[in-house]
Amino acid sequence: FDYSNDFLVHNIINSSIFAITGMIMSKILYENQVDYLFKNLILEEVNQKMERLSNYDTLTELRNRRNFEEYVKKEFLYIDIVEEKGIVALMDIDYFKKVNDDYGHHAGDRVLKRVAQILSELVEEPSIVGRWGGEEFAIFFYNTSLDEIEMKLNRMREAIERSEIVDLDRKIKVTASFGFYSLIGTSDEELEIAFKKADKALYTAKNTGRNKVIRGE
Ligand code: GH3
Ligand code: MG
Ligand code: MG
Repeated sequence: FDYSNDFLVHNIINSSIFAITGMIMSKILYENQVDYLFKNLILEEVNQKMERLSNYDTLTELRNRRNFEEYVKKEFLYIDIVEEKGIVALMDIDYFKKVNDDYGHHAGDRVLKRVAQILSELVEEPSIVGRWGGEEFAIFFYNTSLDEIEMKLNRMREAIERSEIVDLDRKIKVTASFGFYSLIGTSDEELEIAFKKADKALYTAKNTGRNKVIRGE
């Protein structure tokens, strides 16, 4: 009777079972892990996309109105830094309906994108810009003087006036009107008042020739 041989066979069988079980176990664990990671990655991406969609305008890639207002309240008003006064500005493209009528909606969209780009380039952090609605944009400035803001807004207005948007070999030119108003406090109502006053100033800009910046009063 060859004990050593029997022992060897036993050993080989035992270790094979052990190895195979190990392999199966690790395969199951690994696959679950991969599956888990994969699902999490997809979820994460879906979440990021949803967050982006609910906070940013897809055409211009600017903050949408809700996000703009929330940001101003959270990052500025609710911190309640009394000395740091904000200034709100509203902007509306002049005769934009005519751009759509003359060149088509697609060209109109290109104009909106370009205008948004110009504003983004000229608005420095921590000030923010957002799409307020259709062809209207909002800007929130931090703690700067009204004179300085008037200069900055005029720079934006001139940049828009100078720019030529090319669509199907046609050069489209637009102008825009601005209204702005300084926040007197840091409450929700005061923010609302500031937007109303800025809107009123914008309305005055529209009624007195357009392509201008008007300080609210
Ligand atoms: P005003 O100088 O008084 O502002 O004249 P306006 O023609 O710009 O004013 P109005 O508010 O009458 O027209 C705005 C137009 O903007 C109407 C609408 O069709 C167009 N518009 C709004 N959103 C979009 C958009 O996302 N894309 C395009 N292409 N047009 C849009
Ligand atoms: Mg409008
Ligand atoms: Mg307009």
